[in-house]
Amino acid sequence: MKIVDGKALAARLREELKEKIGALPKEPGLAVVIVGNDPASQIYVRNKIKACGEIGIRSYAYELPETATQKQVEDLLDKLAANPEINGILLQLPLPKGLNADSAMAHIPVEKDVDGFSAENLGLLTLHKERVVACTPLGVMKILENEGVEISGQRAVVLGRSDTVGKPMAMLLLNANATVTVCHSKTQRLKEICQEADILVSAIGKAKFVTADMVKEGAVVIDVGINRDENGKLCGDVDFENVKEKTSCITPVPGGVGPMTITMLMYNTYLATLKE
Ligand code: NAP
Repeated sequence: MKIVDGKALAARLREELKEKIGALPKEPGLAVVIVGNDPASQIYVRNKIKACGEIGIRSYAYELPETATQKQVEDLLDKLAANPEINGILLQLPLPKGLNADSAMAHIPVEKDVDGFSAENLGLLTLHKERVVACTPLGVMKILENEGVEISGQRAVVLGRSDTVGKPMAMLLLNANATVTVCHSKTQRLKEICQEADILVSAIGKAKFVTADMVKEGAVVIDVGINRDENGKLCGDVDFENVKEKTSCITPVPGGVGPMTITMLMYNTYLATLKE
């Protein structure tokens, strides 16, 4: 059994990226837009800006008040879209109540959508013509690649079908020739389906939901979930201590998928700069 060190992989990839970015004729620019004062979003944005600075991406933070109108958000996005100094635009979600995220997202041009959340980028992924891929699922693919996990022909089960994690994750695995089943809150016989998985990816947001009896001997288990357990301690969707011995490879929480997400945001910003 191998416990994936996502932090070490992320650090290595960031070093490689830093070198590539240093060789570019100009610094990539990333605009991070945050609307309102959700404390979790503010922490995420701060972490993203700090990480970008460390590898030579110039980041610009734009803060709009909780009371911002749809037009104010969209006008700002239009301005950033037209700014040649900005290669990537990230709109921190969720937006405050009353604002329409889909409509706002449509103001981010596809080539600057470094989150890969736009309808066009998700559509391109579905057509196996990936341009910008959502950071968390892309990070999972990098982990699988780094661990030498065979994907083609394998049974993959993805728990969760969100537009930002579950769906793009399933498409990436399908595009890599896995046979993919996507489970959600209405799935029946979920345990039996999980038991068939050679690769099991959980992205549902329920502490210790995946138990040892759901996991096939020798499976690869990737835990995307970020939850708090009954003692308030950070944990994933997988009952890690009891599941790990059955797996050939497993990601812990924290220190597994999480560190890869921001790294992939920086990677997407680098790619957006290259394609300029
Ligand atoms: P989400 O939008 O809330 O989606 C959750 C999905 O899980 C939904 O598709 C839901 O099904 C499904 N689900 C909920 N309860 C279930 C159950 N009992 N059985 C089967 N499926 C169930 O969440 P998300 O944004 O995809 O995020 C999922 C988790 O990943 C969260 O813990 C989040 O914090 C974490 N996350 C981590 C990272 C990272 O960098 N590590 C990045 C993003 C998200 P329905 O569609 O039927 O409702």
